[in-house]
Amino acid sequence: MKPRLVPPIVIGLVVAVLHLLDGFDGLEHRLTDLRFQLTPSHASGEVVVIDIDPRSLDELNVWPWPRSYHATLLENLLAAGARRVAFDIDFSSRSVAHEDDDELARAIRAARGRVVLPIYQQWKSTNAGELTLMAVEPIAEFASHAVLASINVRPDTDGAVRRYRSRELFGDRSVPSLAGLLAATGRRDNDTFEIDFGISAETLTRLSYIDVLTGHFDPALLANRSVIVGSAAIELGDQITVPLAPVMPGPHVQALAAESLIQNRALRRAPSWFTAAWVMLLAGFLGGTLPRLTWRWALLAGVSSVAALFGGATLIQRVLPFIVDLAPMLIVTGGVFSWSLVAVIDQQTMSMKRNQLDLRRTETLMRHVVENSFDAIVTLGDDGRIETFNRAAERLFDRPADEVAGQSVRSIVELDGPETRLARAAGAPVEAVGRRRGASFPIEMVVTAIDTADEPRLVLFMRDITERKAHEQELEHLAHHDTLTDLPNRLLLLNRISGLAAGQSAAVLLLDLDRFKEINDALGHPTGDRLLKQVASRLQLPLERGDTIARLGGDEFAILLPGASDERARRIASLLIDTLRSPFRMDGLTLQVDTSIGIALWPEHGPDSESLLQRADVAMYVAKRKRQGTSVYSPEQDYNSVRQLVLLGDLRDAIQDDRLHLAYQPQILAEDGKLLGVEALLRWRHPDHGMIPPDEFIQLAEHSGLIRPLTLWVVETALRQAAVWRREGLSICMSVNLSARNLLEEDLPRNLARLLDRHEMPPDQLTLEITESVLMDEPERALAVVTQLDQLGTRISIDDFGTGYSSLGYLMRLPAEEIKIDRSFVMQMDRDSGSATIVRSIIELAHNLNLKVVAEGVETIDAWSTLRSLGCDIGQGYYFNRPLPADELTRWMAGGACPAGEAKAAAQRLAPQVALTV
Ligand code: C2E
Ligand code: CA
Ligand code: CA
Repeated sequence: MKPRLVPPIVIGLVVAVLHLLDGFDGLEHRLTDLRFQLTPSHASGEVVVIDIDPRSLDELNVWPWPRSYHATLLENLLAAGARRVAFDIDFSSRSVAHEDDDELARAIRAARGRVVLPIYQQWKSTNAGELTLMAVEPIAEFASHAVLASINVRPDTDGAVRRYRSRELFGDRSVPSLAGLLAATGRRDNDTFEIDFGISAETLTRLSYIDVLTGHFDPALLANRSVIVGSAAIELGDQITVPLAPVMPGPHVQALAAESLIQNRALRRAPSWFTAAWVMLLAGFLGGTLPRLTWRWALLAGVSSVAALFGGATLIQRVLPFIVDLAPMLIVTGGVFSWSLVAVIDQQTMSMKRNQLDLRRTETLMRHVVENSFDAIVTLGDDGRIETFNRAAERLFDRPADEVAGQSVRSIVELDGPETRLARAAGAPVEAVGRRRGASFPIEMVVTAIDTADEPRLVLFMRDITERKAHEQELEHLAHHDTLTDLPNRLLLLNRISGLAAGQSAAVLLLDLDRFKEINDALGHPTGDRLLKQVASRLQLPLERGDTIARLGGDEFAILLPGASDERARRIASLLIDTLRSPFRMDGLTLQVDTSIGIALWPEHGPDSESLLQRADVAMYVAKRKRQGTSVYSPEQDYNSVRQLVLLGDLRDAIQDDRLHLAYQPQILAEDGKLLGVEALLRWRHPDHGMIPPDEFIQLAEHSGLIRPLTLWVVETALRQAAVWRREGLSICMSVNLSARNLLEEDLPRNLARLLDRHEMPPDQLTLEITESVLMDEPERALAVVTQLDQLGTRISIDDFGTGYSSLGYLMRLPAEEIKIDRSFVMQMDRDSGSATIVRSIIELAHNLNLKVVAEGVETIDAWSTLRSLGCDIGQGYYFNRPLPADELTRWMAGGACPAGEAKAAAQRLAPQVALTV
């Protein structure tokens, strides 16, 4: 059994036991009577009562009545057709006047058994003085011709008479009761039933004794009816306590009992055990049902069960001759209901307490979480005022919670709009600015709107992101800056170029250190890095705010000058060159750095940042090649430009159609002024553009692969010319220039050998000039090729020496015969003592390595005499002559410059003329 069901079962058990002990009798009777009251009914009229009422007593005016009255009454009744006449009158003693007794006895006898006389039990004191139950019977004269019927009634514990027996035992004699007899039911002994007091006594057919005696009555009322004659007057006693009325005359009670039997309303009760069982069932059912309901429903259920029980019992009592013992049912219902109500209330109280406890626990937990949260948590009322402020918030904003409470959220966070606007930020984290003691700092904030019962609230979760921001900025900085110099990098530069306003002019300067690689190799990377840093800081000097200087990598820097004109760009460029030219001192060394700067102008030189930078790069290479320091971009220089592509096609055609030609520039021996040989230099007269400088189209050829046939053409032409001169008796050395690309051709040595062979050129009369910087680009490979060329027996000359800064070790391994001092040094010698020093060092170095020295760009006699005094071996330059077409040179030689013996004099003589022709 479920523990929940124990209390109702106990209640049921107690009620059942009390019921079995008749504990509820009083209530039970009251309930039964109440039902009688609610469902009254009528007497059938089968039983007629003749009342010995006060009026009869009055009118007969004598007491006790002579029994002859009864005899007359009996005769009248029988005459009217009464079926039976029962006297509820004591005939247990004789009258004083015998005649009266005789008269009645005669009348009884004449009735032939239709008269019923009462017999009953009564306590009487015996002779010994003891009380004993004695049967009180009519005297024999009456009894012998009449039927005896018991008129005994037994009151209940409350004194009221309800129960009635069909028969009664007098000793061992079973006598029918009066009602049993009148109703002619023939029931067994002790068959007890309850009188239906719902049958109203008022509806009994009653006649007054005096009226019947005197014949004043309607005989039809009596035809074939049973009649009870008895006293109805209070003064005669024989009043019985009954339900619903205080007392009732005994004959009426008998009449109602008879009516109950006649109408089949002899009421019976279920055995107590049966009711007790029902009580248990009801207790179990209600106990299982009611506590599941809320107290309202339980109340409803309780009240309706009571109503149903009462209604049901009333209905049963009315329809069937059956009385339901309602009291235990109602009591058990009430008990279980009360218990369940208490249980429900108990449970609700308990759960309320538990909820409260839970709530308090949750609240404590939440407060703990909020208080110890790493994030600042602030709640705001809907007016934007601070309501709560956790510890992290106190730390974050450096203010105690009680100080900020009630203040606007503005006191801690900067807001653009009204406080209410905050709610719109609900959702994703936003960045905001926090306020702390007058200072602002970046915060990240998540706004959450919650709808509490009373009013909407905002919860702000905030954290300081100063560090993160710094980190982000650092990363940003790293992404956009060069780590070594901390200058903006290519990306940032490109961004800034792209960010230039439309219509704004700008210049991009691309700057490349001329000999950085060698410094780096010779002195080590740390020194190289320090040099770059110093360069970076010097570059800032001539710049203005808004200019950007970026390091693109290696020794390449770029400078963006927003708003700059062509003129300003050039001025800045030359300032930069000057700044960098003053020597750098590091580790006791003094380093000289030359710079080439290419300038591209926005917007005319490039449609976008990338191409602008690329054009500046082109210009820078031009500057470097021409050794002119600065160069402004022009499309002609750009071998990627359309013009260059067209030019390339033209060049190809020119080679095929043999429209190129060679100029030959003499090389003079310092020792005796004799003509040693000539350098073959390419010339191209374009049909549209006129003379195109070799620098330009050779670059173009190098970039297109055309350099291979071009070089072969040059060598072939030069050797053919040499052969012509040889046939004329002039033994002239021939120098030709090889380009970097040529050194990558595997079949170059073979091709050269073939050409030498074809033109029967003594190999030692051919000099191959290789630019120093070319050698340094790919030293090992160059070394291998140069070695092969050397094995052909040709001479190797290192051209433009001084611009490439070959390491001494490398030079020693190179199978070269001569070096050519770059013309920039030679040409500056007069003005710049530094250049003279360089030239002297080069000559000394070359001689130490057993190399001949050729000085290029000898333009003046002074230069030439200086060079000779420094020990220079060979001179070449405008002072002697410009590069000339072969026939002109032949004539020049014939004019006296040749034979070699007179070269010196010839040179001195011719120089002014040459100079004039410049
Ligand atoms: P480079 O090999 O250094 O040639 C010498 C250059 O100096 C020639 O310029 C010549 O005209 C010039 N020059 C000679 N004396 C003087 C002087 O006293 N003063 C001045 N200011 N300049 C003088 P050019 O002919 O314009 O050639 C330039 C460059 O073109 C050459 O420089 C060479 O690198 C290249 N080049 C010329 N022809 C060829 C060729 O057939 N093949 C290859 N691969 N490169 C060539
Ligand atoms: Ca040369
Ligand atoms: Ca040269």
